[in-house]
Amino acid sequence: TDPVSYVRNAIRSVPGWPKPGVTFRDITPVLQDPQSFRVLVDLFVYRYMRQRLDLVVGIDARGFILGSVLAYELNLGFVPVRKKGKLPYQTLAEDYTLEYGNATVEMHADAVKPGQRVLLIDDLIATGGTMLAAAKLLQRLGANVVEAAAIIDLPELGGSTSLKATGLPVFSVCSFS
Ligand code: IMP
Repeated sequence: TDPVSYVRNAIRSVPGWPKPGVTFRDITPVLQDPQSFRVLVDLFVYRYMRQRLDLVVGIDARGFILGSVLAYELNLGFVPVRKKGKLPYQTLAEDYTLEYGNATVEMHADAVKPGQRVLLIDDLIATGGTMLAAAKLLQRLGANVVEAAAIIDLPELGGSTSLKATGLPVFSVCSFS
């Protein structure tokens, strides 16, 4: 099979989690199997190895797993975007709305320099709210977000479409409906 199908076939769908009516797309089997983990990482390495990136920014928490491996493979630094209250130094914060209520993501104020070419990465794009808030943090620091990338897109939730509408390039390995 091709690399994309190899990764997609390793993703586990868990109906009824975290609540009835929702199907959770679980990447842990992809990570657990050394072959699918390597295929996944290599898909991203080949996509970005000639993009002259400066930094990989991963989103709390599953964005840290792929993001840090990718940063290491591309010889780049890694910066975490975290949920509120986790970072010890001066931070920038961005609020966004969830289906029920609000959330805040934070990044260290000195984590990115103006003009740096940044890859933003998370495991999954649903409504796109998390990715958009992280992109706003980066743009406030003057970064150039080269792409917002995820393993999985849920196109029916409209996140990737609305991210693209803001002018942000978006990439995902595969999608689920
Ligand atoms: P969004 O902000 O609505 O796009 O939701 C994306 C965020 O929620 C990401 O940080 C994901 O890790 C998480 N998320 C939402 N649904 C799923 C899922 O089915 N599997 C894994 N993560 C999910």
